Amino acid sequence: MRTPEPPRPAPHGTIGQVSTPVPAPADTAAVRRHNLARVLRHIAAHGPCARTDAAAATGLVNASLTALAGELIERGLVREAGAVVSGGRGRPRRLLTLVPERVASIAVQITLERVEVMAADLGGEVLHRASVPHRAPYGDPEPLAAGVAREIAVAERAVRASRPGAHLARAVIAMAAPVVGPAQIVAAAIDFGWQRTDLGALVRAHLPDFAAPVDIVNDANVAALAEYHARHGAYDPGAGELPETVAYIKADTGVGGGLLIGGRVHAGAHGSAGEIGHMPLALDGPACACGARGCLAVYVGPEPLTAAAGLAELAAVHGVDAALAELDRLLLAEDPTAVAALAAAGTTLGAAVLAVSGLTDAGEVILGGYLADWSTWLAPGIETALAGRRAVAPHLEPVVVPGVLGADATLKGALQAAREATLDDPTSVPGV
Ligand SMILES: [Zn+2]
Repeated sequence: MRTPEPPRPAPHGTIGQVSTPVPAPADTAAVRRHNLARVLRHIAAHGPCARTDAAAATGLVNASLTALAGELIERGLVREAGAVVSGGRGRPRRLLTLVPERVASIAVQITLERVEVMAADLGGEVLHRASVPHRAPYGDPEPLAAGVAREIAVAERAVRASRPGAHLARAVIAMAAPVVGPAQIVAAAIDFGWQRTDLGALVRAHLPDFAAPVDIVNDANVAALAEYHARHGAYDPGAGELPETVAYIKADTGVGGGLLIGGRVHAGAHGSAGEIGHMPLALDGPACACGARGCLAVYVGPEPLTAAAGLAELAAVHGVDAALAELDRLLLAEDPTAVAALAAAGTTLGAAVLAVSGLTDAGEVILGGYLADWSTWLAPGIETALAGRRAVAPHLEPVVVPGVLGADATLKGALQAAREATLDDPTSVPGV
């Protein structure tokens, strides 16, 4: 969808200023930022490209484009890369291209047992990777915040060493909890025993010299973002019709989900939009940790799923990860109990897909975690659940596809969120 073009500049006005009505200075800055973002996004997607092509594609006049490109070059985000001669006449047109190494970001994922870290530049080149165990005490976020801050400091040093000229844009911390509002408050981290925690502030308190913003995000939301971009290509809308609404359902240590509208995370009023794991599917079903009954999580979560495959005892003795590994082995061996457990889980998942589809009209449902790994065994159940409605209205049902990023989806999604923030506001990157 093309963004409407702001009014064109007056003949002698500065870029972004409009003749009538005279805008407040804040509006001028906002219009300029918006236009810089449009140009940068176009170059990121289509560069190397000529200024005239970028102007045509963004709907900006050539003079505006030239000035905006000049500012992006001054901030080190864009550089000139070669030239093309078109039609054998006139001066060669110099091409513009993104400078991915100009900006780096740090992604952190907090799991039940570990702090995972990845730093990368705008082009996705990984500059640092770490995975360290933590022993967060139940009910006290402070020791975990200190540990996360330590890992961010390590990652920052690694970025500075490998990319001395890079602007460190932000650190994005992802965890399995609803994250609410602009203040990014962790509403409830059930596994850690926290309520309404300003995790970002706790982490920042340990990083007095860290100049970049620290964001807290929901892990499934950013994983959804990463899978969406992996599936559709980050910045090439011309590649095909993009689904307006995409739902993501993942299961690993828990069951979570996310909802993307227009390629952006839709977080909802309390940060828990798209929490498909806690969609009730059976009113008289087993009790769920969330307080409701019969949620999707109590059917396709790691404990119930391994129990349905006859692995409850293994899970009790050796842990749920060992049981999931054994379930994987049994599936590959076509063990009938394991296959039946996945078929039943697929039917329940299919019911969830129907409900999500009815509510959001999602064009696509992407599966993540072991739901992606085991999609072959889930598919018959999903198809069974969808068959009835598909027979009546075939065009209304979403495409259900496995994600492709595996265990790195959340870290890559956190980096994607950081990249989006830079592309949305190029003025956040200082001049070089
Ligand atoms: Zn629940």
